[in-house]
Amino acid sequence: MHTATTFAPMPDDQGFFGPYGGQLVPPHLKQAMDDINVAYAQITQRQDFQQELAELFADYVGRPSPIFHAKRLSAQLGGAQIHLKREDLNHTGAHKINHCLGEALLAKFMGKKKVIAETGAGQHGVALATACALVGIPCEIHMGQVDIAKEHPNVTKMRILGCKLVAVTRGAATLKEAVDSAFEEYLTNPSDYLYAIGSVVGPHPFPMMVRDFQSIIGREAREQFQAKHGRLPDFVAACVGGGSNAIGMFTAFLNDASVQLVGVEPAGEGVDKPGRHAATLSEGKPGAIHGMQCYVLENADGTPAAVHSIASGLDYPGVGPQHSYLKDLGRVQYQSVTDQECLHAFMTLSRVEGIIPALESAHAVAWAMRTAPTLGADQHILVNLSGRGDKDADYVAKILNL
Ligand SMILES: *Cc1c(COP(=O)(O)O)cnc(C)c1O
Repeated sequence: MHTATTFAPMPDDQGFFGPYGGQLVPPHLKQAMDDINVAYAQITQRQDFQQELAELFADYVGRPSPIFHAKRLSAQLGGAQIHLKREDLNHTGAHKINHCLGEALLAKFMGKKKVIAETGAGQHGVALATACALVGIPCEIHMGQVDIAKEHPNVTKMRILGCKLVAVTRGAATLKEAVDSAFEEYLTNPSDYLYAIGSVVGPHPFPMMVRDFQSIIGREAREQFQAKHGRLPDFVAACVGGGSNAIGMFTAFLNDASVQLVGVEPAGEGVDKPGRHAATLSEGKPGAIHGMQCYVLENADGTPAAVHSIASGLDYPGVGPQHSYLKDLGRVQYQSVTDQECLHAFMTLSRVEGIIPALESAHAVAWAMRTAPTLGADQHILVNLSGRGDKDADYVAKILNL
């Protein structure tokens, strides 16, 4: 069993990954962030916390998630071998439960009275409501009225799990308004509440904490792959929205120079169409958003650009600060995949391997499908399959007339 949740040398003690990250927040919030940072440093030192988290990962989430060799898909493509790290098999169906459990345990340790978050499509809301039900702490999720109408199964799950769902009706009543509303509630009492951020974004220490909780993915995968194949994969790929499943996978491989790391961003309807993609690292530039320095997609006037992806978990105009730095360092290559390529990969993996991936994860599969034919049959691509596609099945069936 691992006794520490962090193996990476970043960030520095101000929360910077090179020039990215930090805490771009007003003074009273800086105090709240610093308190979280201190509490986090304390619990990671505690054997009882490490033990509890390890047991929950094993007996509740169902870890370790297996690695599946997609032999039929690899043979059909006629090139490299494709392997899937099955985060889709986790309890609640995706990687998000890994950090939501960590955040819920931290909130309990700090004696917080309530955990608050926003949700767009409802994935973060369901994972957090699940973790809070388990840990026994009140949970309040803010969601746009428009999204509530669209995402019925997730809304129902959150209600069943006992969280308080706040319907946000202002403005466009989608994710942005939900963030504003949740944040306002948090600001009324930051010392009693914890704002549970859903990816490796926001002010320090969230990009570090969420990464540490997710880094179990890569630690397992590296060991599993080594044990089975006696070597490491040539490529490791993962989709990037905010970047939590990708950094969770990459962290264990950062010092393996032979392993090429690839983050796959959503090109939507094409990176040449402003507002119709969310390829932040490929097309954006350094800036600031949501309390951190990072790559950002911006309009000419400096406001965050409109973004789009067929995968609602990937459409974010910012990205994690560590990814921003890893791009500049050249350690990770960031490439992009269109909605069309994503849909094709979604259907192919379903029909060739009997695995329906989340549309987010299908971006990483699409990149592997594009790349495998250019490589030899003795080369290996490990893909992080971040989640399952139950949530997307009806939508895909509708747009493809199935
Ligand atoms: C939320 C989500 C993502 C995107 O978030 P990251 O922080 O970039 O990992 C990817 N895959 C699935 C299945 C998700 O639910």
